[in-house]
Amino acid sequence: MHILVTGGAGFIGGHLAEQFVTDGHDVVVLDNLDPFYDLDIKRHNIDIAREAAEAGDGSYEFIEGDVRDADLVTELVTDADYVYHQAAQAGVRPSVEDPRKYDEVNVDGTLNLLDACRDTGIERFVMASSSSVYGIPRSLPYEETHPTTPVSPYGASKLAAERYAMAYSQVYDLSAVALRYFTVYGPRMRPNMAISNFVSRCMNGEPPIVYGDGTQTRDFTYIDDVVDANISLLDTDAADGQVLNIGSTDNIEIRTLAEEIRDQLAPERELVYEERHDADAEHTHSDITRARELLGYEPSHTIREGVEEFVGWYQDNRGWYESLVRK
Ligand code: NAD
Repeated sequence: MHILVTGGAGFIGGHLAEQFVTDGHDVVVLDNLDPFYDLDIKRHNIDIAREAAEAGDGSYEFIEGDVRDADLVTELVTDADYVYHQAAQAGVRPSVEDPRKYDEVNVDGTLNLLDACRDTGIERFVMASSSSVYGIPRSLPYEETHPTTPVSPYGASKLAAERYAMAYSQVYDLSAVALRYFTVYGPRMRPNMAISNFVSRCMNGEPPIVYGDGTQTRDFTYIDDVVDANISLLDTDAADGQVLNIGSTDNIEIRTLAEEIRDQLAPERELVYEERHDADAEHTHSDITRARELLGYEPSHTIREGVEEFVGWYQDNRGWYESLVRK
């Protein structure tokens, strides 16, 4: 299959591209190497996927370009059977500083892809959405039918993008699926996220910093599970025209997670508490029944198993990765 992965130099797109080429597919990655975090990780992601292609039957091409460039997007979609749209301006807190950029990249960029997919005819458009679309919890865990009231410009932009995808599915009969990811973590994760920060600080004998009182809850979802959910969409049209939660099964308080990582890596340290940001969701907790039924999705890692794997990977890659987390 010819697969276009947008944002394929990033954390999730990088893992996805690597798995696709390992499985023998022909992958083109479109990514503008946005400097939201250190580019060394993105170059590393590109190298890993390229090496996977060289080692197997798949092929890999990296295109440095922007999803806001409609002509480029159309050209690349024309050759694709599937489009996996992972490119986005990520980050909840920075979206409060620059909402318009989030709109341009996350909404206009998605529309460029949807237009191209509609006009060229592809097998399926799969896009990364986010638990941030839910915003204010009325009942937990979130079912996909839960009201969407995002509390950050980032969440609003992801909601608008997935609504467009669903509308194109209805009006133009485009096979489109939106996966609402819940806080994804694992090797090569974005350096500015809670788990990478907790692990990095504890490894250096420093206490983890928790924002707010730490009673916020999260479904931390292991990267392999997110990749598996995406890959299953190559083989089924059962989820076309739908949004699906992709989360984990063991919801955890951030404070508890920080304590567990501290107990393992820096037992003598007390947690440090700093002010919580208003744009951060209070609770995210997924009901994954729909993904289970339609995709056979089943999270393979508990949070403890996933963190253990991440810590092992961190220790093996400490030399280059740690300097990026601590920048
Ligand atoms: P990431 O920042 O690592 O990856 C996004 C990639 O998109 C980056 O490589 C970036 O350079 C690229 N990009 C940004 N703007 C672009 C543009 N204008 N044109 C082309 N490429 C551009 O983030 P990630 O964690 O891998 O997230 C991937 C997707 O999953 C995003 O759509 C994000 O909104 C969504 N998501 C992530 C999480 C998570 O916990 N990581 C949770 C929910 C949703």
